[in-house]
Amino acid sequence: MGATFDFAGKIVLVTGGGSGIGLATATEFARAGAKVAIAGRKADRLETAAAKIREATGGEVFCVAADVRNMEQCQALIAAVVAHYGRLDVLVNNAGGARHAALRNASLETWRQDLSLNLDSAFFCAQAAYPHLKAAAAETGQTAVVNISSLAGNNGTMGCGAYSAAKAGLQMLTRVAAAEWGPKGIRVNAVAAGMIATPLAKANWAKTGFDAARACTAFPLRRPGEPEEVAQAVLFMASSSASYITGETLIVGGGPQIKGMIDTDD
Ligand code: NAD
Repeated sequence: MGATFDFAGKIVLVTGGGSGIGLATATEFARAGAKVAIAGRKADRLETAAAKIREATGGEVFCVAADVRNMEQCQALIAAVVAHYGRLDVLVNNAGGARHAALRNASLETWRQDLSLNLDSAFFCAQAAYPHLKAAAAETGQTAVVNISSLAGNNGTMGCGAYSAAKAGLQMLTRVAAAEWGPKGIRVNAVAAGMIATPLAKANWAKTGFDAARACTAFPLRRPGEPEEVAQAVLFMASSSASYITGETLIVGGGPQIKGMIDTDD
């Protein structure tokens, strides 16, 4: 996918940037001229991802090992990025994931894990990034936070109650942060992804026998999305093309899942 947006001279941090949607997003930002930082728990995996991004784009990549469920580590992460690059223009809160459990017997540990990974993390990183985003916005006019939510946060997903609640919460965090920080020039938006064919998702589908092609007959576009298609929406939300958009959640999910009563296909 080619560079559609111009992020030359911008500093962009993508949490969970070592794989899947985060890796695609960091790659597209680098392709669009940004200097990128990626964060995740495992330093060696980050370095492997950074090498891929550099090879694909020739861009600059800085890796920081951090567990985003931990507030102090998020503060240290933001401080490390600002110490390295001198500023921060865009924060993408992408690290996340779901555990599967029916609500009737979901453990407290599952509940807390999904809330902390998908919701606490975004609060921790955004709060730590705020003074730096504000300072950069005072200089350039605008900075941005983009939170990676899920269609589960809009529609809910059975078997992923904690994850659905966390992603819905993330969308509300997005709205309130947008309201509080808009006057400082910081836009805060979310991108809610549908079924995305990341390498990890595809491996899981193969392992569990999940029939993705069949599941996609429920979407107008009849296929899973690609990580790069989510990345392009993130770049749009972070770009000056979205300069009057804040507090919104953009769904990248292959269209509304509308059920019909007769066959309308020709
Ligand atoms: P992924 O597992 O490939 O990516 C998640 C990334 O987060 C990984 O790089 C992982 O190392 C990192 N991470 C996990 N726990 C962490 C922690 N405690 N601290 C720091 N980093 C951590 O999965 P993905 O599908 O690319 O998911 C990326 C985001 O997109 C998530 O927020 C996910 O909820 C969301 N999403 C994915 C899909 C999909 O179908 N793939 C759909 C909707 C939403």
